[in-house]
Amino acid sequence: MKTGVKRAFVLELFNKQGGRCCYCDRLMVILPRGKDQNRPDAATLEHLMTNRHRGWTRRDNMAAACRECNGMRGSGMDWLMFKTYRRGELWELIGGGKDF
Ligand SMILES: [Zn+2]
Repeated sequence: MKTGVKRAFVLELFNKQGGRCCYCDRLMVILPRGKDQNRPDAATLEHLMTNRHRGWTRRDNMAAACRECNGMRGSGMDWLMFKTYRRGELWELIGGGKDF
């Protein structure tokens, strides 16, 4: 994906998500090109499914995530599991006692 197209798409997702990270719900910032891109709250384009199968680049497999989440997740964790983990719900979940 070309950089310009990617940026426009991040912005679109950013707006759709109300400026919040798809994992941790923090407010993200869209930074001008080349500026301070390593901020943990910078918006990045995230692939929900990390396997490069057909449809990997489809729009519904994309979400805007903050750099911190994007970096933390790597490619080993299922996105839903990671989301649960980032919101601090994972321990509740595996701690049991909760109906869902
Ligand atoms: Zn995040």
